[in-house]
Amino acid sequence: PKTQPVDAKVTPMMTQFIEIKTANPDSLLFYRMGDFYELFFEDAEIAARALGITLTKRGKHLGEDIPMCGVPVHAADDYLQKLIATGHRVAVCEQLEDPAEAKKRGGKSVVRRDVVRLVTPGTLTEERLLDSSSNNYLCALTRLKGGSLAGDSIFGLAWIDMSTGAFHVSETDDQRLAADLAQIDPCELILPDMLLQETDLRAHAEHSGAALSPVPRAFFDSTTASDRLAHYFKVKTLDGFGSFSRAELSAAAGILAYVEKTQLGERPPLDPPSRESGAGRMLIDPATRANLELTRTLGGEKQGSLLSIIDRTVTGAGSRLLASRLAGPLVDPVEISRRHDAVDFFLDNEILREGLRQTLKGAPDMARALSRLALQRGGPRDILSIAEALLAAQDFLARLSHVSGEVPAEIASASAHLQQAPHDLAEELRRAVKEEPPLLKRDGNFVAAGYDENLDELRALRDESRKVIARLQADYAEELGIRALKIKHNNVLGWFIETPTAQSEKLQGDPGRFIHRQSMAGAMRFTTTELAELESKIASAGERSMAIEMEVFERLCAAIINVGDRIKAAAHGLAVLDVSAALAKLAQEESYVRPLVDTSHAFEITAGRHPVVEAALRKTGGDSFVANNANLGPDEEEPQGNIWLITGPNMAGKSTFLRQNALIAVLAQMGGFVPAAAAHIGVVDRLFSRVGAADDLARGRSTFMVEMVETAAILNQAGDRSLVILDEIGRGTATFDGLSIAWATIEHLHEVNKCRSLFATHYHELTALAQKLDRLSNATVQVKEWNGDVVFLHEIVPGAADRSYGIQVAKLAGLPQSVVERAKTVLSQLEEQDRGNKAETLIDELPLFAALAPAPVVSAHASAEPDPLHEALSGIDPDDMTPKEALEALYRLKSIR
Ligand code: ADP
Repeated sequence: PKTQPVDAKVTPMMTQFIEIKTANPDSLLFYRMGDFYELFFEDAEIAARALGITLTKRGKHLGEDIPMCGVPVHAADDYLQKLIATGHRVAVCEQLEDPAEAKKRGGKSVVRRDVVRLVTPGTLTEERLLDSSSNNYLCALTRLKGGSLAGDSIFGLAWIDMSTGAFHVSETDDQRLAADLAQIDPCELILPDMLLQETDLRAHAEHSGAALSPVPRAFFDSTTASDRLAHYFKVKTLDGFGSFSRAELSAAAGILAYVEKTQLGERPPLDPPSRESGAGRMLIDPATRANLELTRTLGGEKQGSLLSIIDRTVTGAGSRLLASRLAGPLVDPVEISRRHDAVDFFLDNEILREGLRQTLKGAPDMARALSRLALQRGGPRDILSIAEALLAAQDFLARLSHVSGEVPAEIASASAHLQQAPHDLAEELRRAVKEEPPLLKRDGNFVAAGYDENLDELRALRDESRKVIARLQADYAEELGIRALKIKHNNVLGWFIETPTAQSEKLQGDPGRFIHRQSMAGAMRFTTTELAELESKIASAGERSMAIEMEVFERLCAAIINVGDRIKAAAHGLAVLDVSAALAKLAQEESYVRPLVDTSHAFEITAGRHPVVEAALRKTGGDSFVANNANLGPDEEEPQGNIWLITGPNMAGKSTFLRQNALIAVLAQMGGFVPAAAAHIGVVDRLFSRVGAADDLARGRSTFMVEMVETAAILNQAGDRSLVILDEIGRGTATFDGLSIAWATIEHLHEVNKCRSLFATHYHELTALAQKLDRLSNATVQVKEWNGDVVFLHEIVPGAADRSYGIQVAKLAGLPQSVVERAKTVLSQLEEQDRGNKAETLIDELPLFAALAPAPVVSAHASAEPDPLHEALSGIDPDDMTPKEALEALYRLKSIR
């Protein structure tokens, strides 16, 4: 469909542009014209603004100037990156024939062009467009209404990293969806357009931080899904890949449809889909994930996150694997300890580890290089990358063979992957491509000398001819007596003689020998038969050697793709080794220890530290970090946890303590060692936190509302395997409201959720609860007073804080002296009034939460011993009474005790 009338005055080129643009309405169109990609109309305006490049005009359309801007093809990647990063999508439209062809057709024929690729955030493969240490996930979300037995909706998720081929699917439900999306952390999310119209789903989608790409429902058609998958992977049936649910198939089909749409025919080499079960991972909801700053800080930066502090990997693939492990800690103690074994192994074998790390440092990103080659976007450097990484794999195997003793399962399986790598191919590739080859294959000159005899000969010829030209230039200059005479080359004229016009008389005087080609300002250009002969010799040698180089490239490329699976397996093996070695290095450098993770309900941390705060303190060279214990496990082997209620002044270190324990659980279960002297953790299946909050303006929620929604989620969902950390609940409302909510929350955690919990509060009144709740202990952060100032000792000790020291902290913060003095006066008056009106009285008056909550307690009492008042009441029939009788009945009822 044409959106604009094409009148007679529209040029053929514009007609073509409008046609292609109409077919790609939601992308900026990069329209190839020679060495530039040009953008027109609104696209030009958007791009010029986003890229900070000049907006110009080119011709007229329907009487109006056409706005235009352009980017040079050789620098297009940088511009693409900027546009993608600012949320745009780009359709790359190439010339599909040589302009000479179009000319041959004559008349108003334009060069044939079409879109060859849609560039979106989730479909990038170029090294320069990607962050080497992050996965670039494209995720598809679909919903089957009433898909579960209970009739609830179920969701299918599929996610791929086109740059490495990773392909996963999973199934989830309303409750887990947000957490699963947060774990995947996609950069682009595709979903049926209808889903985006639902407020809650839209909120989940927007919260994921991904660019949203709504697509037609038909992409996800579950009835044809398995056929589509089978077709993509060229298999008859999917049975060999495992079994998938309908929701998973639908999501996987949706993602493939999108890949086909954006890649226009090229097929990224995806792994067969692997099924991820959400149940195998610690569930971390998006708020908790964000608050704990696992892979990103609250400000969205990588720097300062837990990941940035613990990442000692030396390869991009290792860094990506570490990030995904950190995002999805395991819950199976056997699997967890398998990873711990690998870390232990590299602690014991330091020489092997350091050797491996040294080799890996020089080993490029094999998986990404492979994807680019398979998508026809690769260059000579990608071939070399694969060679070097494969050689690194060989090197490690050789080193490993010298290690005595048993090799743990994780390392053994990684090296089995390496053993299967195509080692003979590695040698060949290494021999074929020269060191530091050019980026693009079309530049040629990347095949190493000595690899192909014919090529070597042609190159010699070419180099020889160059020498001949240099000699010819010297001869002409001498013969004609023109020192400024030069022999030059350009694409239009080929080789030519150039001489200043003022000295060109002799050449002009001999037109039989010097054929005039071009007059320039101040210079003239000629050619000679001699030069023309040389020219064609050089050109044909150049062409022939280029052809040989291309042939070599295609052959190597095919050989690589042919063993793509083995290369990918080896790449994964190297990543696993990199991660294990890096975690060992971290443990050694930072004195982390191996945690014991089992099926108990223990949570016993001895001398735990907060990895990020510790690193920050070290950087500033201030005080060193004070390690603290935590023990939330039950005394006996019962499936219930203890609660620690932590009071203490602001800035004492409460939040730090809460978070460090959550981080230790995450680190332990993702398979790392932990910053502590010892740690014993009964597997945590869900981690909840309610720490700090910001307004969620997108959903129209105030800070207090966000806090309550998060608290509600915890109280409704936490079970005996959960770890809950709650910081300053109830802060966003009036004191008594807040205190009451905090009070009831603790009772609920203690009586109903029975989870291991840390609860920090500024309501000192709550410490009285320890008298009633047997699994609640009070703890406080020690402070010392020193000449009217507070000194924070950051040490967690049993007991309750005696005071809040708010005024001292305010003084430290630089509040004016007069305000500090005045606050002291007000405080002492308030304390005077408040005396005798303490929570100790409250606790005796209020029955415990548990006694109130379960209604059955009351009815049990009723059935055992009939209530006389109740009996008397049931004997009364008001319709059958005179006013006088009614009054008498009332007196009788009053007298019943
Ligand atoms: P609170 O939650 O009690 O207000 P924070 O946990 O935010 O206090 O800690 C305030 C600051 O105190 C931190 O930024 C950190 O610099 C320092 N701090 C906290 N805990 C420790 C510790 N265990 N050792 C050393 N410094 C600490």
